[in-house]
Amino acid sequence: MISEEKSLIPCKKNLQIFNTFGLHSIAQNFVTVSQISQLSSLSELASNYSRIHILGGGSNIILPEILDGLLIKVELLGINLIENRPKNRIIEIAAGELWHNIVANFTFNGWAGLENLALIPGTVGAAPIQNIGAYGVELSDYFHSLIAWDLKSGSMVHMDASDCQFDYRDSIFKKKTHSHLLILSVRLNLPKCWKPNLEYPDLKKFFKFSSTDPKLEEIFYAICSIRKAKLPDPNIIGNVGCFFKNPVINLEKQNISFQEFPDIIHYKQRDGRCKIFAGCLIEKCGWRGRSKGSVGVYKHQPLVLVNLGGAKAKEVIQLAQSIQQDVTKKYGIFLEIEPVII
Ligand SMILES: Cc1cc2nc3c(=O)[nH]c(=O)nc-3n(C[C@H](O)[C@H](O)[C@H](O)COP(=O)(O)OP(=O)(O)OC[C@H]3O[C@@H](n4cnc5c(N)ncnc54)[C@H](O)[C@@H]3O)c2cc1C
Repeated sequence: MISEEKSLIPCKKNLQIFNTFGLHSIAQNFVTVSQISQLSSLSELASNYSRIHILGGGSNIILPEILDGLLIKVELLGINLIENRPKNRIIEIAAGELWHNIVANFTFNGWAGLENLALIPGTVGAAPIQNIGAYGVELSDYFHSLIAWDLKSGSMVHMDASDCQFDYRDSIFKKKTHSHLLILSVRLNLPKCWKPNLEYPDLKKFFKFSSTDPKLEEIFYAICSIRKAKLPDPNIIGNVGCFFKNPVINLEKQNISFQEFPDIIHYKQRDGRCKIFAGCLIEKCGWRGRSKGSVGVYKHQPLVLVNLGGAKAKEVIQLAQSIQQDVTKKYGIFLEIEPVII
């Protein structure tokens, strides 16, 4: 049966329930895309606007009170096993699927790889934007390719991992030059031979009394329980997860010595650089649990900023800037903001 193409008529929309920080934001022109057949009309519509924004689950975005331009919410659904080879599987997932549901679905199907990325909110289509990562695993470890829609030219674009230029919480999609690409689906490459990744300190601690390697589902549940203890649930307290990236620096180049700051948690990267726990820097500057107006620093995890009720984007940015200034002054390290600020 051929389904009828849903029309794209922009409307005004309050986005408060569409962003996990719970910011009150009015989109002047809001449309949802849920069918591939709508894409040509979408490009035509987009050509009328000078600014285009794309929204998934709103869990990594700080929205202004009034959002001009066209806002496209992606609601494409579907999962497809593309190839089932002796050593691996290639699976295609539509952009509007919820990331955590996919991880749970794969884990309980016995398809390993993504379990350390459980409970990350948001959609599959947004996962490549900042190369989501947690507990020693990043999307790029299992990424195969993606298909995007070029809103400007009105054509499909296929991109492999090297085209996406993945890095720590970064990809080519964060550049203005690529903001006209709407990701339609992501293909993952999951190997059938699996070894758990338990290198991260919290996971090591969780399984320290296990004499054998934990099972796939046990790791999934461990990650969920570790995250629940550390991070606020956006359904209860508005937040976008970690607000700052952990700085990755070259100690010699930046002339930083940990003899001077022995209590700062850091660990060496494979490339010789050093990753510093930003939460630790924020805490040492005395920000844990403090607030400014309606925005606070979460008391159980100082990397997270929270909405104490009725917060505005301006207040979020002001608090973030105060933290950045204090950390730079004390340690000479600049903390980069992780979510997308519009
Ligand atoms: C409690 C909590 C915990 C979190 N933990 C983690 C974590 O451990 N690791 C981690 O990496 N992140 C984490 N995050 C951040 C967030 O979950 C991820 O960045 C997620 O991928 C965002 O998905 P989204 O659909 O909500 O994206 P949105 O917030 O809607 O959008 C984010 C960006 O992606 C763009 N975008 C969205 N969909 C598309 C698309 N289809 N095509 C093109 N561009 C698109 C948007 O324009 C925007 O620039 C956390 C957030 C919260 C609230």
